[in-house]
Amino acid sequence: MEKRTVIRGGVLGMETGPLRADLVIDGDRISAITLDGSEYDADEVIDASGKFVVPAGVDVHTHFKEPAEPLTEGFYTGSLGAIAGGIGTVVEMPQATPTSSEGAHIKEKIKVGSAESIVDFGLWGAAINQGLDKIDEMIDAGVVGIKSFMAGSSPGFPAATDTTLFEVFTHLTQYGIPYGLHAENDQMLLEGIRRMQAAGRKDPLAHAESRPPVVEEEAINRAIFFAEQTGGQAYICHTTTARGFEMIRAAQDRGVNVFGETCPQYLVLDEDDLVALGPFARCAPAIRSREEVEQLWDYVADGTVDVISSDHCGYTIESKEAGLDDIWQAPLGLSGVQTMYPSVFDEMLNKRGLEISDFVRLTAANPARIFGFYPRKGSLMIGSDADIAIYDPDDLWTVTGDEMLHRNKWTPMEGREIQGRVVRTIIRGNTVYTFDGEPKIFAERGSGRFLTRDYGMLGE
Ligand SMILES: [Zn+2]
Repeated sequence: MEKRTVIRGGVLGMETGPLRADLVIDGDRISAITLDGSEYDADEVIDASGKFVVPAGVDVHTHFKEPAEPLTEGFYTGSLGAIAGGIGTVVEMPQATPTSSEGAHIKEKIKVGSAESIVDFGLWGAAINQGLDKIDEMIDAGVVGIKSFMAGSSPGFPAATDTTLFEVFTHLTQYGIPYGLHAENDQMLLEGIRRMQAAGRKDPLAHAESRPPVVEEEAINRAIFFAEQTGGQAYICHTTTARGFEMIRAAQDRGVNVFGETCPQYLVLDEDDLVALGPFARCAPAIRSREEVEQLWDYVADGTVDVISSDHCGYTIESKEAGLDDIWQAPLGLSGVQTMYPSVFDEMLNKRGLEISDFVRLTAANPARIFGFYPRKGSLMIGSDADIAIYDPDDLWTVTGDEMLHRNKWTPMEGREIQGRVVRTIIRGNTVYTFDGEPKIFAERGSGRFLTRDYGMLGE
């Protein structure tokens, strides 16, 4: 007999809207939605009165960067942050040592993730001008997306040439999987940095001014062009500008296969935070002006934004502090896997009058769909995996780095008040995290499962 859990008294976050009902879990799946859960014999009853019961988040943009030496995050510590933030599934980016760019790298990463991860995980593979045979190897090994940088990221992850972009878009049409792009123009951004440095600028705003919105918008435009020419699927990572989303919306309207992702740092923080936090807010693309942030919300509200992801990138405090007096010395990237969904939940529901259905669509259902996990993930359907986050919408708390469970204890949300907290996370029927004044972890290292792009339709 499988363990039965009944979650009673909560408001279910369905894609169609809020539903006041009880949820029955048998083993690892949701088995019933019912008005009165007391009619079911249960091994465990969870009281969710006054709380939202939503699908656990599907964060399709994390950098746990394992294997790598030294380890700056890792599947295990990254998972701890994720489950404390209500996330049950991640899709891990190909940054690792070496960059995940051939079949053997993916197989190694599956091994590491399966041994370490608590959250279920899929993998991105990298297109770094290495040849289409390597792309095929990675797809055979089970990646759910291919990622390129249109501007160089590191020596191991150079910019994709326009030839690569065109060829990979064309090649992926036979598989129907998304081509994820970090969209910034390589030449423009290198020249922007050179100009700022030549002028002696080392302040935080110089970072944003070196790569203004047009640097990103040019690349988005080019990505859309290639997608339209080839019939490929463009997944524009961490889009930060209104004009970028305007182009995405126009392309979607004329039938181009393009998805737009953004992140909480671009929906919540602005250039004032960049000035205040300095290196701890240095990321790429740069955090934008308040005006830009406000306009992004229009594209959230009208459905142009498909996905909100964290782009979690956990650098050490020491490496970030190196940029305190010289912003160029700080690495690019922010931690965020733990704070993302609470901060977005608060901003959407409490501050901007959006609905729980919008939250569920952007943080769980859409990403699960795009990467092939739906409806097993990202949904509270009968038959879906019982991956659930329970939110207490009334808990008002202040974010501090000390509370972070990921490896490096800092956050660009430091000091922010957030209303709404994850009080329980369940993955495949097992409670892995609770918060009752303090966090408790119940998960075992290595309990996470590797997901392929047919996972959403698998029977087992
Ligand atoms: Zn990223």
